[in-house]
Formats: sequence, structure tokens, C-alpha cells
Amino acid sequence: MQLTTKLSLLLFFGIISGCNTTPTEKSDSSSADLLSKSKIIDLTHEFSEETVYWVTAKEFELDVVAKGQTENGFFYAANNFATAEHGGTHIDAPIHFAENGQSVEQIPLENLLGSAIKINVSSRSLENPDYLVSVEDLKNWESENGEIEDGSIVLLETGFSQFYPDKEKYLGTNERGPEAIKQLHFPGLSPEAATWLVQNRNIKAIGIDTPSIDYGQSTLFESHVILLSENIPAFENLTNLNRLPSKGFNIVALPMKIKDGSGGPLRIIALLNE
Ligand SMILES: [Zn+2]
Repeated sequence: MQLTTKLSLLLFFGIISGCNTTPTEKSDSSSADLLSKSKIIDLTHEFSEETVYWVTAKEFELDVVAKGQTENGFFYAANNFATAEHGGTHIDAPIHFAENGQSVEQIPLENLLGSAIKINVSSRSLENPDYLVSVEDLKNWESENGEIEDGSIVLLETGFSQFYPDKEKYLGTNERGPEAIKQLHFPGLSPEAATWLVQNRNIKAIGIDTPSIDYGQSTLFESHVILLSENIPAFENLTNLNRLPSKGFNIVALPMKIKDGSGGPLRIIALLNE
């Protein structure tokens, strides 16, 4: 774990204690201070019947079990839901494309929390739905912001979240089923850039505002294989990345803890220093 991450986690969870106060008192004030100084941005799409899924995946279902006044005089609401692991805002666990990779419940929490950067390629990807984030894009970010620090969570902004949940614009097709796969058009990370990241930098997770870290026309899912084989999980279908700066913010990304899961619904937020 990186020192900065450790510090921010300590601050975040408010467990720094002083000599003159009890841990509880101090802990309350430090967590309150941190949160009062942070702007919280939700990077998560809602789960509903509009949620965008991979064209071959089961879509989100919510069955209302109860909603209303009971005979005993209190209100009661409860639902059942069903969902594929890979739809809406979700995590790809390493085992999704790496046989010996971690499943969701095995991903260390340290990989899901901590300092993050954002690389904005939207000026190019909005002109070309098959855009691949390149090594040059990564190097351009570094020439303006300095080297990507060890332990960073890297977010890629393509601008495609503005089309969500319009499947024609966001996925490239309204159709579903295996035949629709050929019609998928959305940007992703090039395999060359994925390789450059794992060979030259030490990142702990990656995220993108499209349905997949590989672009829509990919058939080999090479960027998935390259990243997930290194136990670097991927966050997909993110939103609100346009509200983040290029660096200097923290991510909290907590997926549903599905035992043996290859992925799962993810609640992801950014904490910005005000
Ligand atoms: Zn996925």
C-alpha cells in the first residue's frame, strides 16, 4: 500500500488519534473534517429497466414484493432483484479474463480505494466511436501532469456517458443477442496502452465511461486480458467523469461482495478536496 493511500485511508476512516483526546472523540472530528472538506461525486449509474447491459447479458429486473400500508398499521416496502454481473456500473474482477485471477470477494480493498487520476480523450473519442486510447494519450497526460504515481487508480474519460442509456448511441446498436456484437461501436483502451501501463507504471485499478475497457469492435478483449492478468480490476460504465480534475482526488469503489464472482454491481464515488 502506498504511503499517501495509507494516510488518506487513515484520514478517511478517522482513526488517527491524539494524546489529549480519546480515540472516539478525535475520530469523529477527523472524519467529519475530511468529509466537510470533500466534495463527493457519484460516478455510478442507477440500476433500473433502462440500465445498459452487454448485448448477450440478462438485464436488470426489479420485482416488487410489497409496497404499502400493512394490516398492522406500518408501511412496508421490499423487492427482489436479478442482474447479470456485467451491466450498468460494475467491476470486472481479474478472474473475468484470467483463469487464476482474483474473484470479486478476493480483490484487496486497497485496490479499490485511494488516489486517482483522470485522462480525458473525449475530444478525439467523440469524433470516432471506435477510438482507442493510445500510449501517446498516456504520455500526453504525463507531460502535463507528471508521471502516473505508483498505486494510482486511472480513469479514462471518453465522453460516452453523455449518451447513456441511449443504446444506439452508447453501444452502437439497439439490438440484442450474439448477432448484435458485431454492431458494437464505442471507445476503449488500446492493447498497446494497456501493455505500456502494466510494464511501465504500477496502477491498482482502471475505469472507463463506456461498457468495456476494450473498444466495441474488439474480438480478442486483449486489454482485459493484459490488465486482469496482473490483478488490475476494471470499472466500467462510469459517469460524471467530466466533473473530475486530471488528478488530486480519491476514489472509493465498493462492489457487491459476490463469492466467486467474475464481476458485480459497483457503487463508486470520487472525493475531491474543496
Ligand atoms: Zn464487465
